[in-house]
Amino acid sequence: MTLRSLLVISLVFFAGVGRATSASLTSPKEHFGFAIGDDYHLATYTQTEAYFKKLAAQSDRLRLVDMGRTEEGRTQWMVIATAPENLKSLDRYKAIAQRLARAEDLTPEQAHALAAEGKAVVWLDGGLHATETVGTHQLIETVWHLANSTDAEMQRILRDVIVLCVHANPDGQELVSNWYMRESDPTQRSLNGVPRLYQKYIGHDNNRDFYMAAMKESTNINRQLYLEWFPQVVYNHHQSGPAGTVMFVPPFRDPFNYNFDPLVIVGVETFGNAIQSRFLQEGKPGATSRSGANYSTWWNGGLRTTTYFHNMIGLLTEIIGSPNPIQIPFIARRQQPSNDLTAPIAPQRWHYRQSIEYSLAANRAVLDQASRHREVLLRNIYLMGRNSIARGNRDSWTFRPGRLEQVVRGAAGEGKVAGEDDASDSPDGPGGSGSPRLSQKHWDQFRKPEWRDPRGFIIPADQADFGTAVKFVNTLVKNGIALHRATADFSVAGKRYPQGSYVVKTAQAFRPHVLDMFEPQDHPNDFRHEGGPPNKPYDVAGWTLAFQMGVAFDRILEGFDGPFERLPYGQLQTPPARPLPAAGAAAGHLVTPRANDSFILVNRLLKAGVPVHRVRQGAATADFGPGTFYVPTHPAARAILERAAAQFGLDVRPAVAAPAAADLITLAPARIGLWDRYGGSMPSGWTRFILEQFEFPFEVVFAPEIDAGKLREKFDVLLFVTGAIPSQNTRPPPLNRPRNLPPEFEAQMGRITGEQSVPALKEFLQGGGTIVTIGSSTSLAYHLGLPIQSALTERNAEGRLRNLPDDKFYIPGSVLEARLDPTEPVAWGMPERADFYFDRSPVFSLTAAPGASPVKTVAWFESEKPLRSGWAWGQKVLKERTTVATANVGAGRLYLMGSEIAFRSQTHGTFKLLFNAVQLSTASPATASAAR
Ligand SMILES: [Zn+2]
Repeated sequence: MTLRSLLVISLVFFAGVGRATSASLTSPKEHFGFAIGDDYHLATYTQTEAYFKKLAAQSDRLRLVDMGRTEEGRTQWMVIATAPENLKSLDRYKAIAQRLARAEDLTPEQAHALAAEGKAVVWLDGGLHATETVGTHQLIETVWHLANSTDAEMQRILRDVIVLCVHANPDGQELVSNWYMRESDPTQRSLNGVPRLYQKYIGHDNNRDFYMAAMKESTNINRQLYLEWFPQVVYNHHQSGPAGTVMFVPPFRDPFNYNFDPLVIVGVETFGNAIQSRFLQEGKPGATSRSGANYSTWWNGGLRTTTYFHNMIGLLTEIIGSPNPIQIPFIARRQQPSNDLTAPIAPQRWHYRQSIEYSLAANRAVLDQASRHREVLLRNIYLMGRNSIARGNRDSWTFRPGRLEQVVRGAAGEGKVAGEDDASDSPDGPGGSGSPRLSQKHWDQFRKPEWRDPRGFIIPADQADFGTAVKFVNTLVKNGIALHRATADFSVAGKRYPQGSYVVKTAQAFRPHVLDMFEPQDHPNDFRHEGGPPNKPYDVAGWTLAFQMGVAFDRILEGFDGPFERLPYGQLQTPPARPLPAAGAAAGHLVTPRANDSFILVNRLLKAGVPVHRVRQGAATADFGPGTFYVPTHPAARAILERAAAQFGLDVRPAVAAPAAADLITLAPARIGLWDRYGGSMPSGWTRFILEQFEFPFEVVFAPEIDAGKLREKFDVLLFVTGAIPSQNTRPPPLNRPRNLPPEFEAQMGRITGEQSVPALKEFLQGGGTIVTIGSSTSLAYHLGLPIQSALTERNAEGRLRNLPDDKFYIPGSVLEARLDPTEPVAWGMPERADFYFDRSPVFSLTAAPGASPVKTVAWFESEKPLRSGWAWGQKVLKERTTVATANVGAGRLYLMGSEIAFRSQTHGTFKLLFNAVQLSTASPATASAAR
C-alpha cells in the first residue's frame, strides 16, 4: 500500500459520514445518458425508479421505502437519506419524531430529552404536478447529492437530519416524459398537448385531495406524513414562478387560517428567510414572496397546506423552468426591489439547469436550517401538540372574523366605537386609528359560553347514512387523527347515542385539523380596498368536510366521557355488518334510499339481471321515504343482498307485502356517457372516479362523437360537468393541436359548441334521452331557450342586464345550505335541507308560471343567509332562487345542477342527485307483474 492510498483511506475514514466515495456511486449522467438539467432531456419514472434502486444499493446513506401503489399500479418510492449511523437506528428516530408530534403522555422533561436525542425530519418532494418537470428532476439530483457530496455542510446535515425524498406522482412523470421524449429531434420536443391527465383521475387536482385522500397517492403520502414519519418540515416543490421572477418562496400572503398554531407561521417565515438568504449568498436573484403571488395559508387540502393543521412547517416554492430554454420577460413591476422581492433579476435567456441549481440551493438552505435548529424543531412540534391538547381540555375560543364583526357592530350600536387616537404619531399602523378601542365588557361578549370550541364531536351510529359517515371517519384516520368508538350505548348532554358511535375529541395534537373538518371556515371579508374587488382566495374559501359529506354529528362544548375505546392510529373503519333479515314468506326486500352505498347494491343487482324497483309513495316505503328500493324475491338476489348488507351495513328489511304496481317504477341498467376532452378534464375525471367507486358502468364520450349525432342509439344518459358546455356568448379559443398527434387521439380532438353539439343534444333529449349538466354546463338550458334566467344579474344604468359585479356578489368555493323537494324523484333519499358545494356557481330564476313551465325547481336557497362555511359576499340575492332544476325537453329530461354536486369526490351529501338522475334515465312505470 502506498502512502498516497493510505492517506486517501484515512481521509475517507475521518470524513465521518461513511465511504460515499463517488467511485462507487453511479452519477445521473452515467445512468440516464444525460445530465439532469440538460436542455431537451427528461427522465421517465421507469428510469428514475431504476436509478433510485441502483443508488440505494450502492450508498450507505440511502434507504428505499415502498410507500404503496399508485392509481395506475406503479410503486411509489421514498428515498430516505441520512448518515449511515442514523440509518442503523432509523426506527428509534422515527419513534422519537412520532412521540414528539403526538405529544401524548410526555412530560416536558421527557420531551426535551427526546428532542436532544432525536434527528430533524425533513420532507423534500418532487413531481406532484408532472408537467412541472423541474420537480422530479431536482429530486433526482438532490438524492444524488445527498448520496455523493462530502463537503462539511453536507456531513453536518446528514448527521442532524433525516431527509425524506418523496416522489409525489410516478404515473405523471412516466406519462409526461414519454410524451416529451417521443420526438427524436430534441428541438421539436414539447410539453404541449399531453393527451390525458397526469394523475389517472384528477391531474392537477392531485394537490386538492389531502384531507379527503380519495386517491392512492394522497393516501400513501398522508401515511408517511401523519402516521409514520411526522416530519417537522415539509417542502413541496412546484412550478411555475411568477412572470419576471425565478421563484416564489415563502412566506405567504394573508389571510392565514386561525385554526392552526402560530408557531407554524413563524416557522414558515424562518425557512423562507433561509432560502432567500442562501440565494443572495450564492448570487441567485429573482425570488419573490408574499404579495409576489396568490398563495396564502388559509386553505386546507393541499400537500403543503394540510401539514399546517398537523403542526408542521409547510413550504411551497414555485420555480420557472423548462427543458426547452425560455426567456425571463421584462415585467416592469418586477424590477422594483421591495420587501417581497429583494433582488430582482434581469430579463434573460434561461436554461433548465439553472432551475435545477436554484432548487438544489433551496433544498440545501432548508436542510441547513433544519440541521442548525434540529432540537428546536423537535421541541416546537411537541410544544404545538401539547398546546393543542391543553386547548382541547379546557374552555377555549377560536378567533373568527364573523364573531369579531358581531361584537364590534354591537358596540357601534351603543355608540362606543369613536376613534380614540389623538396622538399624531400613533404606532398602530394602517387601520390603527380607525380601529375602535372596546371595553372589557365587549371582550367578555367575545367569550360567550356558546362560542366555546367543542371539546369533541360525536358521530351517531344511528344516522340515515352511517356508511358515508364512516367514509368521513376514514379521512380522519388517514390524516392521523385520534379516534374513539363507543363500546356501549351512552348519554352526553341529555342525548342518547348507540354503541358504535364515533367520538373525536379535540384534546389531541392535531386538533387544528379536527376543528377544520367539523367547524365552518369563517373567511374574512377580504377586499383590495373599501368598495373594491375581492382578494380572491387561493383555491377555495370554505370546505368543512363533515358538511360536504352530509354527516350528522353533535358538537359537545363541555368535557365528556363514556364507554369509549381508543382506536389504534391508522386503523381504517368499516360500518358494522348487518345480517340480512330472512324474507320468509315476504315478497322480497326493501332497501334504504338514504344510503349512498345502496346504489352500489342496486348496480350489482341490475348487472346480475335481478329486477329492482323504486317505491314512489305509500305504506310500502317502510320508514325510508319515497324512492325506497324494492327487490322482489329472485333466485340471484339473496347472495348479492347479503353481501352488500355485510359490506356496507345497509339497512335492508323484508317487504311484508308486494307494493302496488301503481306505486312502483322499474329500473334498468343505464347506458351512461360521461363527457371528457382531449387532455382530460379534472371535473370529468373526479366524476369518472365516483362512478367507478359506486359501480356505475359508463363510457367516456368526446365532442366528435357527440357532434356526429344519433346519440340515442348509444346512450340513455349523458353527463356534462363544469367546463364542458360553453355559455351562449363565449367564443372558445381555437383548438390547441399538438404536433404529430398520434392517430388514436384523433377521435378526442374537438369541443362542445353551440353550432355542432347543441343540435345533437337537443335531438337526443327529444328522443327521450336524459342529460345531466353540472355547474357551468347548465348553460345548455339557455342554448335550448328554456324559460329560466340567471339570478345573479342586475340592470345597469342603461337598463341592460349584466352579471352582478364581484363587489356586490362574490362566493368563491363555499358550502351553502339549500332546501329540497324530497318528493321530486331526483331528490329521493335526500334530507329536506342539505349542504351544497357552491363554486362561483350559476343560480336560476324561473321565468314562466310554475304550472305552465317545463322547468321545475328541485332545490333552492331558502334563507337570505345560506352560507354554512366559507365566504359569501352579497348572499342575500340567493334567497328563493333555484340551484337544482329539472326540465322536460320533448320526450327527454334535462337536469340543471347549478351547484357542484360531485365536487372533487368530497360532496357525498349530494351524490344522490347524480345517482338518481342517472338511474331515472331508464326507469319505466312498473307493469302489474313487476311486483312479484
Ligand atoms: Zn404545481
